[in-house]
Amino acid sequence: MVQLKDKEFEVYISHQDLTGRIQALASQISQQYEGRCPLFVAILNGAFMFAAHLLQHISIPCEITFIKVASYQALQSTGKITELLGLNEDISGRDVIIVEDIVDSGLTMEGIVASMKSQNPRSVQVATLLFKPQALRTSVELHYVGFEIPNAFVVGFGLDYDGLGRNLQDLYVLKEKEEPVVKPLP
Ligand code: 5GP
Ligand code: MG
Ligand code: MG
Repeated sequence: MVQLKDKEFEVYISHQDLTGRIQALASQISQQYEGRCPLFVAILNGAFMFAAHLLQHISIPCEITFIKVASYQALQSTGKITELLGLNEDISGRDVIIVEDIVDSGLTMEGIVASMKSQNPRSVQVATLLFKPQALRTSVELHYVGFEIPNAFVVGFGLDYDGLGRNLQDLYVLKEKEEPVVKPLP
């Protein structure tokens, strides 16, 4: 159990399970990109921990860079993103793998993929540690998914609650407040 500000969280996926799964994803990516030199583009802030663990297990030549985006989910159904920290690299002709912590509605990822594709890369694939299928509102394609999770709020291993919790080794889920049981009158 961990308390962050006014909320209580409980362990949901252990550090060992997270890193084990990430290692498997890294092997899969290393095999599929054999003979190429992919450019990993990790999305700050949340993906820093996932990216650090993933890259340690990539066994082929590769590069990594980081971007930071803000997404707006106003009225339109497509993701509109603003780059707060943009890409310095020329990605034309490159094999790009986007590294994200979590895909929820998918609007942010849809915007990022569109932005990458407009810069003429050779290919664009997506690796996300976590995916909430029930929340998905777009048709964005996810090529590598660590864990599918239900529609609940998670923190730890890079993900935050109001800026806190990114340092936690395990992934935690928000603890539902136990409602007092109301017994029907006899
Ligand atoms: P989307 O555009 O897919 O709806 O939102 C993705 C972003 O929302 C993620 O990059 C993350 O910043 C945030 N997010 C979505 N679900 C969660 C969650 O359960 N926990 C945390 N900490 N952030 C989340
Ligand atoms: Mg993120
Ligand atoms: Mg956040």
